[in-house]
Amino acid sequence: MTTFAAVDAQGKVRFVGDVPRGAGCGCFCPICQSPLVSKQGTVNSWHFAHEASQERPECVVGSINLLRRLAIECLAGMQDGLPLPPGATTLDAHASWKRFSESVEFRWPVTHVLPADWNPQAPQGHEIATFFLDDGTKNHRIGLFVQIEQTATALQADACDGAVVFRCPPPAEGQLRTQQDAMQYLAASGDLVWYALPDFAGALSRARATVDAQKQEFLAEQDAQARARASSLKDARNRMLAMSRLSAPEPVKPAPDIEPQSLPAWASWKKRNTSFFGFGIGTGECWVVMSSADFDGCYIIPIPMAFDGWDESLPASIGTPMPERECFTSALSVNELIAWFMPRAKLGIRIDGDANVVEQFAITICGAPN
Ligand SMILES: [Zn+2]
Repeated sequence: MTTFAAVDAQGKVRFVGDVPRGAGCGCFCPICQSPLVSKQGTVNSWHFAHEASQERPECVVGSINLLRRLAIECLAGMQDGLPLPPGATTLDAHASWKRFSESVEFRWPVTHVLPADWNPQAPQGHEIATFFLDDGTKNHRIGLFVQIEQTATALQADACDGAVVFRCPPPAEGQLRTQQDAMQYLAASGDLVWYALPDFAGALSRARATVDAQKQEFLAEQDAQARARASSLKDARNRMLAMSRLSAPEPVKPAPDIEPQSLPAWASWKKRNTSFFGFGIGTGECWVVMSSADFDGCYIIPIPMAFDGWDESLPASIGTPMPERECFTSALSVNELIAWFMPRAKLGIRIDGDANVVEQFAITICGAPN
């Protein structure tokens, strides 16, 4: 942007088309106070040039500041006062996915206001005048601001109960040649709007309270629903548990242990890694011979059980009766005993490491003793 406005020797705002062309325009840069040359050519857009090209980057804002000053002068010069912009806003609140909103429309007691306490020198973003709006309870102090900016920036409106801003975008290059152009531009492109609404007649407070109440109500409802869900989940879980107890088969009683075939007492008398030798001698008479685990020799046992006169059935050379165990003990080796029993085993012989097998042999081959 080029410089389109300047000040004359009296400090009055002058536009490039309002002054004689050339170095005799009598204008100065409002930023650097350098003398300016009014350029009113046919090729380039009309503008002020710094003499000797002394323009600084910050000089560009000088024109904007002067346009802003002109806007302030225009606003201050409105005989009927400023038209009060309509006030409407929507307050909202959010709770999870839900938005609550409450629209507020203000009914101003007046259509126009006459601002006072003008301060045209106030920098951008600061209030340049003040007016009041009385709602019967409170006289709201409203700040007036002027903003010539492409994008709205924050205003220093904290000290006011409300703020109205005259907002206008900067003109295009070469758009403004004269003050007349500038006034028309401000009128056409400028807009008086609310920047911050006052809590006039408590309208904002009521809307805020309404929105907050809706939000709280929603949250309470959500909470109640969450509790209900949790509770019904718990119920469902309990019902399922109860049903599963009802429908579940009676806890399976441990099946009566298939009684491990009990081993005959003599099964444990055998020396490890040796065998039982069963000899079927005759009906009701069967003997098992084994190497002893307890002593150097053998046991000779009537199986399946001791029969009457068992202790007199074997010669003393073979073994010695041991009444407490109902068996014979023998100092002979297994082989020697096998040699003795083999020829006498008319009903057969059974050799096995499993005592039950040998016992079963005795029962089936020899028959249970009567
Ligand atoms: Zn300058």
